[in-house]
Amino acid sequence: IPIPKTAPVLAERRPTRKVPVGKLFVGGDAPISVQSMTTTPTSNINATLQQIAELTAAGCDIVRVAVPSQDDADALPAIAAKSQIPVVADIHFQPRYVFDAIEAGCAGVRVNPGNIKAFDDKIADIAKAATDHGTGLRIGVNAGSLDKRLRALYETDPAGALVQSALGEASLFEEVGFHDFAISVKHHDPVIMVQAYRRLSQACDYPLHLGVTEAGPSFQGTIKSSVAFGALLAEGIGDTIRVSLSAPPVEEVRVGIKILESLNLRPRQFEIVSCPSCGRAQVDVYKLANDVTEGLKDMTVPIRVAVMGCVVNGPGEAREADLGVASGNGRGQIFVRGEVIKTVPEDEIVPTLIAEANRLAEELGEA
Ligand code: SF4
Repeated sequence: IPIPKTAPVLAERRPTRKVPVGKLFVGGDAPISVQSMTTTPTSNINATLQQIAELTAAGCDIVRVAVPSQDDADALPAIAAKSQIPVVADIHFQPRYVFDAIEAGCAGVRVNPGNIKAFDDKIADIAKAATDHGTGLRIGVNAGSLDKRLRALYETDPAGALVQSALGEASLFEEVGFHDFAISVKHHDPVIMVQAYRRLSQACDYPLHLGVTEAGPSFQGTIKSSVAFGALLAEGIGDTIRVSLSAPPVEEVRVGIKILESLNLRPRQFEIVSCPSCGRAQVDVYKLANDVTEGLKDMTVPIRVAVMGCVVNGPGEAREADLGVASGNGRGQIFVRGEVIKTVPEDEIVPTLIAEANRLAEELGEA
C-alpha cells in the first residue's frame, strides 16, 4: 500500500510550549489534537458521558463541557473520572467554578478574560490550584465577549484587540510564574481570525487552539473552518483545533480530522478519490462514491479507493489508489494495487470494492 512514511507537509510546526491536558499534551511535539464540545446539560452525567463516548469513538482527542451552574460543576468529578478522553471545563462569569473544575480532576479549564473580570484578583490562586493538580488552562478570547476596555480598539483593529486581550491575560499568569496554558483568539470572520492567530504566534510561544467561532451550519462552517485552519496550519500555526458547527459535535470531529489528514498533519485513514462526473460518465458516479463511502465508513485502515466514471482518467487514478474502479459501458474494471483483477457489471461494483477493501484491511492488519 503506497502510503508514504514521511508524507510531505506545507510547513514545519512553529515551536511552542508543551502544556499538559490530562494524559495528553497540547503544543511542542504533541500531535495536533482535535477537540469538540458536548451539547448535553453537563449536570446530566449519563447523557454527557454518552455523548463523550460517541465523540471518543469518532476520534475526538479532547472534549469540553460547559459549566454554567453549580449543578454542572457538581457533575464534573464523575465526568472527569469516567471520560476516556481529557475533559476541559468551560467557565464563564463564575470564578469559583474554576476551582471546582480543577479539584474535580478536569484535565483543563477554559477561561474567558472578556467576561470574568473578577478573575484578575484570583489569578495567583488559580495558578496555584492548577499547578498543584497539573491542570492546563486555556485563555479563550472570543470576539463576542471581548473585554469592554478593548472595544474601541476593536472598532479599528479587531485582530489586534483579540491579541491584546489574550496577551494581557497571559501576562497576569506569567507574573505569578504560571505558563501551562494555551491561547485562542476566535472570531467568526476567517480573515480576522487568521490575522489574529498570525500576530499572536509572532508575539508568544504558547500553544494555539484554533477556532472560527460561530462558523455556522455544517456546510458554511466546514468551509470557513477549513479555509482558516488551512491557511494557518500551512504556516505551521496551530496546536489543537475545534471546528464549531451548528451541527452534532461528532460532525465537528469528522471535519477536524479530515482537515488535519488533508494537510498530512495526521495519517490519512480511509480516503476516497472520486471524479466529479461529466458528460462522459458511463455510470452513476455520485451513487457509486456515496455507496462506497457509506459501506467503508468504519474502515480504520488507511486505504485509498478510486471511483472513476469513465476511462479518461479512470485507469490512471484507479491504478494509483490501493483499490479502484474505472467504469465504462455499464461495467467496472476493478483494480487492486495497480492491477486489474476483474471486470464486473455496474451493480456489482460497490460490493466488490467493499469486499476487496476489507480483504486489504485484513491483510494490513495482519502485517
Ligand atoms: Fe468525466 Fe471520466 Fe473524468 Fe469522471 S473520470 S470526470 S466521467 S472524464
